[in-house]
Amino acid sequence: MSTSTVNYRNGTQRSSLRTQSSGSTSGGQKPPVKSKTVLRKSSPAALGGGGSVSGSKAGNTGDAGVPGRVRVAVRLRPRHGEELIADADFADCVELQPEVKRLKLRKNNWDTDTFEFDEVLTEYASQKRVYEVVAKPVVEGVLDGYNGTIMAYGQTGTGKTYTLGQLGEEDVADRGIMVRAMEDILAEVSLETDSISVSYLQLYMETVQDLLDPANDNIAIVEDPKTGDVSLPGATLVEISDQHSFLELLQLGEAHRFAANTKLNTESSRSHAILMVNVRRSLKTRDGLSSESNGNSHMTTKSLKPPVVRKGKLVVVDLAGSERINKSGSEGHTLEEAKSINLSLSALGKCINALAENSSHVPFRDSKLTRLLRDSFGGKFCTARTSLVITIGPSPRHRGETTSTIMFGQRAMKVENMVKLKEEFDYKSLSKRLELQLDNLIEENERQQKAFVDEIERITVEAHNQISEAEKRYANALEEEKLRYQNDYMESIKKLEENWSKNQKKLAAERLALGEKNGPDITSNGNRSIASASEEVSELKKMLQKEAQLKMAAEEEVNKLKHQLTELKKVEASGNSEIMRLHKMLENETEQKEKLEGELATLHTQLLQLSFTADETRQNLEKHSSEKTSGAQDSLSQLRLPQIQDPGNAERLPVARLFEQVGLQKILSLLEAEDADVRIHAVKVVANLAAEEANQQQIVEAGGLTSLLMLLRTTEDETIHRVAAGAVANLAMNETNQELIMDQGGIGLLSSTAANAQDPQTLRMVAGAIANLCGNDKLQTKLRSEGGIAALLGMVRCGHPDVLAQVARGIANFAKCESRASTQGTKRGKSLLIEDGALSWIVQNAKTDTSAIRRHIELALCHLAQHEGNAKEMVKEGAIWELVRISKDCSREDIRSLAHRTLTSSPTFLTELRRLRVDIR
Ligand code: ADP
Ligand code: MG
Repeated sequence: MSTSTVNYRNGTQRSSLRTQSSGSTSGGQKPPVKSKTVLRKSSPAALGGGGSVSGSKAGNTGDAGVPGRVRVAVRLRPRHGEELIADADFADCVELQPEVKRLKLRKNNWDTDTFEFDEVLTEYASQKRVYEVVAKPVVEGVLDGYNGTIMAYGQTGTGKTYTLGQLGEEDVADRGIMVRAMEDILAEVSLETDSISVSYLQLYMETVQDLLDPANDNIAIVEDPKTGDVSLPGATLVEISDQHSFLELLQLGEAHRFAANTKLNTESSRSHAILMVNVRRSLKTRDGLSSESNGNSHMTTKSLKPPVVRKGKLVVVDLAGSERINKSGSEGHTLEEAKSINLSLSALGKCINALAENSSHVPFRDSKLTRLLRDSFGGKFCTARTSLVITIGPSPRHRGETTSTIMFGQRAMKVENMVKLKEEFDYKSLSKRLELQLDNLIEENERQQKAFVDEIERITVEAHNQISEAEKRYANALEEEKLRYQNDYMESIKKLEENWSKNQKKLAAERLALGEKNGPDITSNGNRSIASASEEVSELKKMLQKEAQLKMAAEEEVNKLKHQLTELKKVEASGNSEIMRLHKMLENETEQKEKLEGELATLHTQLLQLSFTADETRQNLEKHSSEKTSGAQDSLSQLRLPQIQDPGNAERLPVARLFEQVGLQKILSLLEAEDADVRIHAVKVVANLAAEEANQQQIVEAGGLTSLLMLLRTTEDETIHRVAAGAVANLAMNETNQELIMDQGGIGLLSSTAANAQDPQTLRMVAGAIANLCGNDKLQTKLRSEGGIAALLGMVRCGHPDVLAQVARGIANFAKCESRASTQGTKRGKSLLIEDGALSWIVQNAKTDTSAIRRHIELALCHLAQHEGNAKEMVKEGAIWELVRISKDCSREDIRSLAHRTLTSSPTFLTELRRLRVDIR
């Protein structure tokens, strides 16, 4: 457009544009009252109460959000040409679930974080729908006399300008928010009584430039301390009366923006573009036209009421690219530039946080951008409604920027709102469980100890009793025997004495008789007495014999008792050795208990350390993302720690600290813990670490890969299989590790895991790992000969699309390497895939509805077809018809043309096509 169609002025004077087109209605303008009614219906219910940041969350129930809260929509840009080719083998880094307003951010092969937004706009969302959900409620508020802001935040190239500033001159369906907002405003106002004026500005390095008047390049921002109104008295203000002049103004602004940026030697992605639309409406209160907002007919009587004027301001901000400016050298930025370029975005983040947290101080004054937005942005002057669109791209290569954009959006939605479903390690409950186990062990040990002591006491007492009883018995028996002896002896003596005295008497009597008679009888008498004496002697002999027998029996008894006593002594001795043995057992038991307690204590501290570090990691991540939310670090940290500006590095820092504090060795040692829970937690920690590329080398060097493979070999636990296979899959992303995995028999282990697993997630991990190995040119033959391809094909039995996608990816990777090898002449003969029977599965699944599977299969077919050695088989199995179909219908242009090329360059295919008269041109 030429400036002659529009006269520009500063301040409040009217421009001729207004006069020229005054009264003319632009095309499609609806009668004011009617359209007003239509618009009102969809107005958010409680917009007037805006500003109070309520604690409740906007539900999924339509448009009526929480007044005052920033409403946040996320919009995904479709893949563009370069991404279609470069990222063909990779899944998008996000998955959108618009029906539940959720976004899943893929962290690695199997792990995702889930976030909730007010609106989730997929790559298919039309500009009209985006306008309706993001901007329309704000525009309606502006027409009702409130201020409103619509902002787009995101990495350069993700569609901010497309969303906000697209003019749609070629295709009306492409019109962006600015154009559609003006259409709605124009349709609503009555140009006789109302006015619309527009300023268009650029904010670059904390300087406000007028995009409608390039000479005007340092505009002051003025705030009315009483009303809080923000104005730019120095900025060109253009009255708008029709859509056409507005479009011309936008084009002119864009042209000036381009020129200004060329002059400053910068890109427009480094500056913020700000469109300000002031709507001033007079509400008629006379002649029966009561104010629409009162709507009562009795108001007509108050005919002398002064006219009511409603002023609303709409600010649309196309923010600078949110990517960090960290390569100041390569992009020609000085540090000063980088600092002030980041400043406004960072201040915006801080204000959003402060508003979201209902903080008493909102640092609006920190930057020009936030000063400009102050009265349109809730908070103290609470008459505003704000919508934020965060734009993201699908490419996994920009995962870092995408994550930081998502975190900014989440912050803007309000901190408590953050819905983040995340698998976390519940260290607390594990530690509690271990504590319980420890307590149980201690109790059990105490019980056993008590039982031992009791038993020993019992045995000791029993032995003592036995001994003392035996002693008593022996003593009694001895005493008895002694008494009996004595008695017998005494009796014998008595008898002997009696006999003796009897004999003496007899002898004396005999002698007397002999002496009186003096006679011849002496000899016969003497003979008689000798005979009785010998009788006596034999009797005595007998008695003595009896005596000797008795003595012998007594001696025998004594011997028997002696024997009994030694037996008892033996029993006592063995009782003692039993006691000793029990004592020793007790000592061992105590020692073992101490060792166990020590181990548990170590485990305990390790777990505490782990959970402490995990907490810290989480906090760091949150802190880090909030720093990212602020858009940039402050100037100090930029000066001191330039290396932190690499976002990848910064994200990895807390994980690096996990290594330092807990020690990788310790974590790896827990993989062999006895407690299955500890093992599971440890393998999860290792898997999480392995998901970070920066940790992979360290993990492998510390023997982590070997331990993971060992787990696959030795454990039966499915969870461990799943997690360990996932970790191996991640480690298998790098070529050196792929070779290590193969060297350590990894493919055999993965194959047997695949054969035994039922859980689709386990199979997905295993298939993912094998698929990675399939992409290594050097490992092709070994992989196949050790059953890798067979294992991959075996997993299709599960039928889960995620597993099939990994299988298809593996096949595509393998086919790609093969086709490379055949181009280089290092491979001859049929494809190993075909030899292992993959072709029929490929053909069967080539038409699947799951796009991730189909894309890989299509690529695999194209790769296989590039090698003439496969052509015959491909004709025989019908793969040629899939190629024909791909060359005609595939939605991806690059694959379509690849299929076409392969078909037309193979003599076998050409012959077959000619034979069947199929034309593929
Ligand atoms: P930004 O302003 O964030 O740097 P652009 O709006 O310039 O990004 O978008 C970059 C490119 O992507 C442009 O070519 C644009 O047309 C295209 N693009 C962005 N979003 C979409 C979309 N939703 N649909 C189609 N093309 C898009
Ligand atoms: Mg842009």
